Amino acid sequence: MDCLPLLAAGRRRVDCCDMGRVLLAKPRGYCAGVDRAVQTVEKALDLYGAPVYVRKQIVHNAHVVKTLEAKGAIFVEETDEVPYGATVVFSAHGVAPSVHEEAAARQLRTIDATCPLVTKVHSEARRFAKEDYDILLIGHAGHEEVVGTTGQAPDRIHLVDGPEDAAGVKVRDPKRVAYLSQTTLSVDETQSTVKALRERFPHLQGPPSDDICYATQNRQMAIKAIAKSVDLVIVVGSPNSSNSVRLVEVALDAGAPKAYLVDNSSEVDESWLEGVETVGVTSGASVPEELVTGVMAWLAERGFDEVEEVASADEHLLFALPPELRREMRARERAAG
Ligand code: SF4
Repeated sequence: MDCLPLLAAGRRRVDCCDMGRVLLAKPRGYCAGVDRAVQTVEKALDLYGAPVYVRKQIVHNAHVVKTLEAKGAIFVEETDEVPYGATVVFSAHGVAPSVHEEAAARQLRTIDATCPLVTKVHSEARRFAKEDYDILLIGHAGHEEVVGTTGQAPDRIHLVDGPEDAAGVKVRDPKRVAYLSQTTLSVDETQSTVKALRERFPHLQGPPSDDICYATQNRQMAIKAIAKSVDLVIVVGSPNSSNSVRLVEVALDAGAPKAYLVDNSSEVDESWLEGVETVGVTSGASVPEELVTGVMAWLAERGFDEVEEVASADEHLLFALPPELRREMRARERAAG
């Protein structure tokens, strides 16, 4: 490696012996569902003008929420905070059917930005419920996605929050039990939970394809690939982002000596770098790349300027905008001739 000192504006000069490496995990950051949800709010603002109301954080990232607020989005917790007749966007995490009913009662214009991969889990829940299964939903209590999925079949769904919950689950008929999961869980922990459930319920049915989404799986695989080769992992993501928090856990389980979650570069602690030669960096599925760039710049200022991107998978998935938005866009194009 060339030992050129860093003299760029704002960077301190470092000696060769100070220099450290960064392994940058790929894929990282925005997934197709988050990209679509953020674009949905932006497009709704373009079409209908501000304010556009958004029920819950559109995606779990403080920076994204602040940026959309600056453009005219108003974030609320519940539909009854939205004025009658206004426009409301439902977040990527999905909502229960009762939320659609409440919105209809207030005559709201609704745009549903639920990620299509969450909608798939909703359909599975309704199908199993229709076939009279008890459904064991593996997920974290209180997470918005879990609340939305439970609302698809509230009388049939039982939450299982990790392998230790398997022993206490009560079902009507042990031969008619199915499991589903939140899309953003740890792949390994979920496998342990399914194993524990299968030991109790040998006839346990599962979804036709994995509920943990491609983006969650790929980001976990990418951090696992570098965890053993680094002294420290920095995961960029907000504390309420399930998939970001899982990345910290997965990094530690995979052999990283220490791993921390930061919302942005201002939260990185200088003391974490003591004795560190190689830092691993990644970001959750709701994190814009500019926040990773900020962390990389912070590290470079401290001598960690040799960067290697370690790719574990390629991602090309894109989701179309919600149909209600596409209809409106087509209508406006027609009207404009
Ligand atoms: Fe969809 Fe997965 Fe992204 Fe969640 S993390 S929005 S389920 S693609």
